[in-house]
Amino acid sequence: MMNIRDKVEADITTHNKNPYKIVKELLKDSITELGLSDNIYNILKKPMRVLEVSIPIRMDNGELRNFTGYRSQHLDILGPTKGGIRFHPQVNADEVKALSIWMSLKSAILDLPLGGGKGGVIVDPSELSERELEELSRTYIRKITPIIGPQKDIPAPDVNTNPEVMGWMIDEYDKLRGFNVPGMLTGKPVILGGSLGRLEATGRGVVITIREAARVLGMNLSECTASLQGFGNVGSMTAKFLHELGVKVVAVTDANGGIYSKEGLNIPELLEFVQAGNSVVGYPHASPLSNDELFGLPVDIFVPAAIENQITKDTAPYIKAKIVAEAANGPTTPEGDRILEENNVFVIPDILCNAGGVTVSYFEWVQNAMNYYWKEEEVNQKLEERMVTGFENVLKMRNEQNGRMRKAAYMVGISHIVKAFKARGWIKTPDLSRNYLN
Ligand code: GLU
Repeated sequence: MMNIRDKVEADITTHNKNPYKIVKELLKDSITELGLSDNIYNILKKPMRVLEVSIPIRMDNGELRNFTGYRSQHLDILGPTKGGIRFHPQVNADEVKALSIWMSLKSAILDLPLGGGKGGVIVDPSELSERELEELSRTYIRKITPIIGPQKDIPAPDVNTNPEVMGWMIDEYDKLRGFNVPGMLTGKPVILGGSLGRLEATGRGVVITIREAARVLGMNLSECTASLQGFGNVGSMTAKFLHELGVKVVAVTDANGGIYSKEGLNIPELLEFVQAGNSVVGYPHASPLSNDELFGLPVDIFVPAAIENQITKDTAPYIKAKIVAEAANGPTTPEGDRILEENNVFVIPDILCNAGGVTVSYFEWVQNAMNYYWKEEEVNQKLEERMVTGFENVLKMRNEQNGRMRKAAYMVGISHIVKAFKARGWIKTPDLSRNYLN
């Protein structure tokens, strides 16, 4: 049987599953559609800086293991680079590069004064003790310290990292600097300068975009059903807010398997069950469901909230949902996307759908700079405004182009970045189409 690293290597070389190749194609396509020259593509396709670090850790059994970590910084012309850090066995350089490009586009679509960054460590954190995990988090931050900082590059949580991990990381950074620097990362515990509403922000944003999509499609959410792949921070919060809007969430999965209830899952009870440290699989009031079965369920809304490459040529044909809301980054391969398009599924693309996280991270960074903190309602209100405006801008572009939401999102993001290129004098008239001359 293939081990997980062999599978990762195979996926990286498989064109259709390499997120960096996928994002470059999408960039190229949208740049051509916008009538911009290849010069723009040549800048956008490459992160400005990528660092690989080794992270030696003394394990509890005395063994010394050397983990590999990365930090990719895509582009800082709109502000410092910004994006999460993931701990996952499938992390690789190409994945981190792609994720940093997606971060640039997200920030651009939401009009945040930030660029894109992303970090990752190749590790399965479930195999580590708490002490080993803390050691790994602290050592990773020490290794990337020269290139991060509140005016340079601002990390945050991503897959398998959370406020607790952010707490260790900021503590390590503060010790190195000799004073407290709360704005060096976001998604930290509230007591250390984290923002109220940050933990819920990505899921809240996902549901705002679903609500807007339902409005466009004339769907009444209180009559809709939903299924979710992934029940980490983003998946569980998305389920919570969907449930609050009256959507019947009938199925969820996590890394161990899934559950289904035709009548709708009791989401508040399930959230409590999972917060107590359980997998959804052990939840007693539902029937078991496999990942494969999840794709074929007759639901109105499907939310991939796990990792990349889940909606593929093999799974997309089974999807019956009218809305696919990409809470994860890069969950759909180009082949999967084509099938969704043929089946007329309304896709809320990742770079719009899950941008609520970085938006409230931006608010956290602003509050850290002021050293003055907002009430949660204020944060949520500001998030609502940004998400709705972002959605409207993408929808408008889609309608003007008579195209798809994904390409429209890329076009909105790229156009925004191009304005900064132009203002900085990086690009001249021949790089721009007539649309961009004014
Ligand atoms: N990791 C999240 C994302 O992919 C949040 C990034 C941030 O808050 O900076 O958007």
